[in-house]
Amino acid sequence: MQLQRFEFTQIRMGVDARIVVYAPDEDRAVRACRAAYARLSALEQIMSDYRTDSELNLVCQRAIGRWVKVSPELFYVLWRGQKLAEQTGGAFDVTIGALVRLWREARRTGKLPDEATLRTARARSGYSLMELSLPRRAVRLKADGMQLDLGGIAKGYACDWALRVLHKHGITRALIQMGGDIVAGDAPPGERGWRVELMEDGTILLSNTALSTSGSTEQFVEVDGVRYAHIIDPRTGLGLTKLVLARVRARDGITADSLATAAAVLGEPDAKRLERFYRNAHITVLTRELV
Ligand code: ADP
Ligand code: MG
Repeated sequence: MQLQRFEFTQIRMGVDARIVVYAPDEDRAVRACRAAYARLSALEQIMSDYRTDSELNLVCQRAIGRWVKVSPELFYVLWRGQKLAEQTGGAFDVTIGALVRLWREARRTGKLPDEATLRTARARSGYSLMELSLPRRAVRLKADGMQLDLGGIAKGYACDWALRVLHKHGITRALIQMGGDIVAGDAPPGERGWRVELMEDGTILLSNTALSTSGSTEQFVEVDGVRYAHIIDPRTGLGLTKLVLARVRARDGITADSLATAAAVLGEPDAKRLERFYRNAHITVLTRELV
């Protein structure tokens, strides 16, 4: 059967979500991709911190000091985030929402937070302040004003889901990209992989793998000549000030996305040491080369 290429782009989780598939006809492609986008919408409603009525935000309001049962999707992402927080000594940390809000305010005002404000936000952050119960599939937060933030992990997870939905519709030759996160299924017909351009080292071929890029070069606020990136260094509570680009290949999107954010914070050599926890993960961190 002759397969044709179809490509769609819609905005999800604040970025262009691009889906490329090979399908026998347009009708099949449209139906499958529509289902995949519907799944992305549902995940956005669960994980987004921009939506006041997202499950994530409702949990933040309710879970201070008491157990709140959450959806399997939210629990899984929090669980993976917490595991990575433990593996990185908190360099990756989904409880840094209060600090992310300060960063956004700095971007708006062009000013860093004052010391007292920063201190308060730091007291509301820290992975040891979030408890997860697997048997109850529940979350409990230990400090007032805590805010969870899945910006460093949710897009990769969403890409995994999109691929899974396409599979259910009989499509295996697919590529999903959300910003810097890519998940590739089977290769296009007659090819060894999906051709992906990398900024600094040419083209690579991807199939049945995930690739995520994360770094300080695209989103930042400049204050007094210093650039603070949108990735928070939990040790300072402020955005990363170093120039860094982390790239991770891993078996799935949730792993690649979260490891890329973690690797950007950690830098070498600590980032590389994360590979031992994740089979088939390959981590590279570029710093000086970019200058
Ligand atoms: P992008 O979202 O630009 O693709 P990342 O995957 O690296 O890049 O995610 C950055 C986002 O992750 C931030 O916008 C914020 O929501 C969240 N974040 C920031 N710092 C951390 C951190 N130390 N650990 C976990 N998540 C973080
Ligand atoms: Mg990430």
